[in-house]
Formats: sequence, C-alpha cells, structure tokens
Amino acid sequence: MAKKVAVIGAGVSGLISLKCCVDEGLEPTCFERTEDIGGLWRFTENVEDGQASIYQSVITNTSKEMSCFSDFPMPEDFPNFLHNSKLLEYFRIFAQNFDLLKYIQFQTTVLSVKKRSDFASSGQWEVVTETKGREQRAVFDAVMVCSGHHIVPHIPLEAFPGMEKFKGQYFHSRQYKHPEGFEGKHILVIGLGNSASDIAVELSKKAAQVFMSTRHGSWVMSRISECGYPWDIVWHTRFRSMLQRVLPRTLQKWMMERQMNQWFDHENYGLEPQNRYLMKEPVVNDDLPSRILCGAIKVKSRVTELTETAAIFEDGTVEEDMDAIVFATGYTSSFPFLEDSLVKVEDNMVSLYKYVFPPQLEKSTLACIGLIQPLGSIFPTVELQARWVTRVFKGVCTLPSERTMMADISKRNKKRIDLFGESKSQMLQTHYIDYLDELALEIGAKPDLLALVLKDPQLAVKLYFGPCNSYQYRLAGPGQWEGARSAILTQKQRMLKPLKTRTVKSSLHFPVSFLLKILGLLAAVVAFFSQLQWF
Ligand code: FAD
Ligand code: NAP
Repeated sequence: MAKKVAVIGAGVSGLISLKCCVDEGLEPTCFERTEDIGGLWRFTENVEDGQASIYQSVITNTSKEMSCFSDFPMPEDFPNFLHNSKLLEYFRIFAQNFDLLKYIQFQTTVLSVKKRSDFASSGQWEVVTETKGREQRAVFDAVMVCSGHHIVPHIPLEAFPGMEKFKGQYFHSRQYKHPEGFEGKHILVIGLGNSASDIAVELSKKAAQVFMSTRHGSWVMSRISECGYPWDIVWHTRFRSMLQRVLPRTLQKWMMERQMNQWFDHENYGLEPQNRYLMKEPVVNDDLPSRILCGAIKVKSRVTELTETAAIFEDGTVEEDMDAIVFATGYTSSFPFLEDSLVKVEDNMVSLYKYVFPPQLEKSTLACIGLIQPLGSIFPTVELQARWVTRVFKGVCTLPSERTMMADISKRNKKRIDLFGESKSQMLQTHYIDYLDELALEIGAKPDLLALVLKDPQLAVKLYFGPCNSYQYRLAGPGQWEGARSAILTQKQRMLKPLKTRTVKSSLHFPVSFLLKILGLLAAVVAFFSQLQWF
C-alpha cells in the first residue's frame, strides 16, 4: 500500500513536495491554512498572522531560468526577473499541469504533529488539523514540513534604547505594502538586507528623506551582470564553483571584492561590509546606489539611541524629525505545531541533517523543506530536497546513523560560520551548486561530466561553463526527463525572447565580429613583441 504523507503548506515548497510524492508513488495530502496556493508569493493587501506577507512591488532576485523547476521551464515570454504576480502565475500553471490541486485541503491549519505511541516501530505521526473551527485527526506514515520561514518577524526592540519614547510610527518590513502615505516624511529603515533595500528605494521616491542604518554593511549587486545577462546566469557555473574550491581563500576574496566594487565603490557609498571577506548573501538591488547618489537615501551606522523624534547613531550624528522607523531586521523560524525539540534553529545552529532531517528520530519520517537560504534560487533547491526526502520515505535511500548525522551538522555549522559569519541573517545560508550536487548525489541524479565529455561534448561544455540550471539534474537517474538536454541547449533563447520586443538589425555578427576579436588579439600580441625588441 502506498505510504501516506502529510504536506504542511502549499507554497512553493509544498507544491513541489506534492509533485515529488506523486512521482515516487506516495499518497500525499496537503494542508494549507489559506484559501489558495503560492504562500509568500501571493500578495494580499492585509497582513495575516501565521503567514508570510510581501509588499506589492516585490520582484524576484533570482532569474526565471535559474528559478524554474527542473522539468517545467517557465514560458518563453516571461520576463527574466518576475513580479510576484507573474511568479504566482507560473506556480498556478505548474500546479495545473501536474494536477496537484486535488491533493490540497485549503483553509485547513495544522495544529499539531505528534509521534504515535508505536513510533519506534511504525514511524507514524498523528496530525491534528482545524478547518473552519472543526478539528480532525489523521495518521500519516510521513510528514513534510513546508510551512515557510519568513513568517515570524524578528523585531529586536530591546537593541534600541529609548525605543519606548519614540513618538513616530514603527513597524516590521512584513507590514509594509505600498509607499502611499509616506509622502514628505523622514523615514529610518533599519537593516541592509533585500527587504530593507527594496523598501528604502521605494519609499525614497515619495519621502522627504530616507535613512538606512546598517551595523555591518553589505555587498550590493545588480540583477544585470556581464553583457546584460541576469547575475545568477553568470555567477552560478560549475567552472566558477570549481575555482572557489581550488583557489586559495585570500585570492578568492580579493577577486570577489574587486568584482563587487566594479559597479561602484562600496566604501564611498558607506555600504562596505565590515568583514569584506565573508560570503554573506549580497543585496540584489538595481536602484540602491543610484538613490544614494541622488541623496534620496543616506546610509548611516548602527543606531545607539532613539528619542521622541530623533535617532542617534554610533558615530555621534543625530537625525531629527523622524516620522517612521521600518524594522527590516529579518525573521525567526517557528514551527508551533511541532514539539520544540524536533526542529531547532537557534544559537547559530541548525539542528537538521543537510537542513532537512532531524537526526534523533528512530525513523526518518519527518523532513523540513525550504528551511534554507542558498546563495542562489531556492526553487531548484527545495525541489532537490523534496526529491531526496520522498525517496527516503519510499525506502530507496537511507540516512546514516544519528552519530554520523550529528557530526555532519556540527561540521556544516562550523563551515557556515566561517564562510558567512555569525549574523542571524546568515543562519540558514549555504553554498548553491555544492549543496545541489550533494542532494543530487543522494538520489543518483548528479550529472556525470566525465562520461558526457565523451558521449556529448557539446552538452558537457554547457554543463561546465554554462549556468548550473535545474534541468541538469534531470539528465540521468530517477526522474530523468527527456526534455532536459534540449532545455539546457535552448536556455539562452528563453532568456532573450522577452527582450526581443523590437526587431534590431545588428551590423556586426559572428563571424565578422569574432574575426575582428581574433585580429585584435593578434595585433595586441604583435605589438607586445615588437615593444620587447626595443629593450
Ligand atoms: P511560504 O511561501 O511561506 O509558504 C508556506 C505555506 O505554508 C503558506 O502558504 C502558509 O499559509 C502555509 N502554512 C504555514 N503554517 C501552516 C500550518 N500550520 N498549517 C497549514 N498551512 C500552513 N527566494 C528565491 O529563491 N528567489 C527570490 O527572488 C526570493 N525572493 C524573496 C522575496 C521576499 C520578500 C522574501 C521574504 C523571500 C524571498 N525568497 C526568494 C525566499 C522565499 O523563502 C522563497 O521564495 C519561497 O517563497 C519560500 O516558500 P515556502 O513554500 O518554503 O514558504
Ligand atoms: P535578512 O536578510 O535577514 O536581513 C536582515 C537585516 O537586518 C540584516 O541587514 C541585519 O543586519 C539587520 N539586523 C538584524 N538584527 C538587527 C539589529 N538588532 N540591529 C540592526 N540591524 C539588524 O532579512 P530580509 O531582508 O527580510 O530578507 C529575508 C530573505 O528574503 C532573504 O533571503 C532575502 O534575499 C529575501 N528577500 C528577497 C527579496 C527579493 O527577491 N526582491 C526581497 C526581500 C527579501 P546584520 O547583517 O548586521 O545582522
């Protein structure tokens, strides 16, 4: 008989978990507290307790080709970075295509998930849900927790002496929806993450003055990278990943600093990270430096005190007449329906094996999907997590002993702190390609590059030097998709399609431009050697 799996939440993690359950022949039931799918990506005017809340203007900071699921590319005409409504449209098409809605019980909140008394032998869970005031109990063979981690705001009022005296308005970034109502105001945004930057930029177009206060600074990069390609297409290649592994750390850091300062000098803009050598999640924002250059945003240091109307900063400067403070200070993970000991993310420690499995369970029948912050897109990441988990539930993949898992957790946490630092915002941070490959290896879906070099060199070159997209993990192994090769080879086409809204006849094209580059290179070499003859 097929194993019954409870999936908690119908956001992106829940949807892909449903699909993976179906693919592996498991029997899923998804419980979603709201009336619709999409989770964080479904914008609502109201801020609801217990669910994520975004502002109306949110646009993805990872591109469509790097964010789609591995056997379902986004429609060709979708823009490269998507407004939240467009991403939600993709999730709707995805759910419809794989007929996932029939597994979801909407307006149903999971109240508790408890081990059954015979858990040590059965691995089963009792799940209590509530639908329109009616409680229900059901037994499941396994549980996938997909309830999100951008729900409970982290708002550290205690870190701001004098906060109780402040007479203006203050709120967390999850409560921000639109810039209307902030015309002519003086606003202080605390934090320098992606929420802080988006909100500060948007407010700066209406407000009299916006201030951004940061303790540690951050690298800021544009969505647009080399030759106008999306940043993640250029950054996330296996070649670059290999360089990161083999180059000495100091050289890598030096290269990163140079690259980050190419767009603008972070020191001049007051944004430079305190520890320039950490690989902390960068801010992706196309407008922030420009708003700073225009004076609409002023970057300030840490706030040391607040008065009724003013903010006093670490460097002794004071900004008067403050009307509002936005705490864009991140989130705290919370799983109110689970026993405390099961999933812990605190004291700078994530207590899950590969960010997924609690190691101490007698049976591996509970998994967290999406409790992670990769340096690339989360969508292919949660997909590989779900592919692995469903194969563990099915019994075709096994986990190591509790001791081995604990040792791995501890090693991983140490490495994370070393690479990304101790800030709360980096507690779930991971490398991108390394982590994807690690999960793919578990299920036998990691592409075999050496074999491909002989069999399909064109594809091998794309895999190594091109963007590490999700399609790569459908070339072989369980869940192999026959469209994967073609999706990899036609990726550029889908990227450029939405830009081709005006036909432009370019004068210089390959091979002429290519030949000119070769000639230029030859000329440079000849010039170099002829110079040598003078010495
Ligand atoms: P959510 O989207 O939060 O979904 C969780 C679902 O579970 C919700 O539908 C909720 O109602 C339901 N739920 C919760 N508790 C219960 C319960 N007890 N019972 C029943 N249902 C429950 N990542 C990227 O890769 N690229 C981006 O561009 C990007 N942009 C982001 C922008 C913002 C503003 C934020 C905050 C995050 C962004 N992220 C991005 C990261 C983000 O976490 C993911 O994009 C993703 O949406 C997380 O999906 P999820 O399904 O894990 O969680
Ligand atoms: P975040 O990344 O956790 O950033 C929180 C910020 O608050 C950090 O700059 C942190 O500074 C600061 N902070 C925390 N505690 C503080 C304190 N006591 N005093 C002063 N500063 C404090 O949160 P987020 O910006 O809301 O982003 C959450 C996730 O959503 C991220 O993965 C992000 O990429 C994503 N996101 C994406 C988009 C988009 O795609 N457009 C938009 C928004 C968010 P320190 O570094 O100094 O600790």
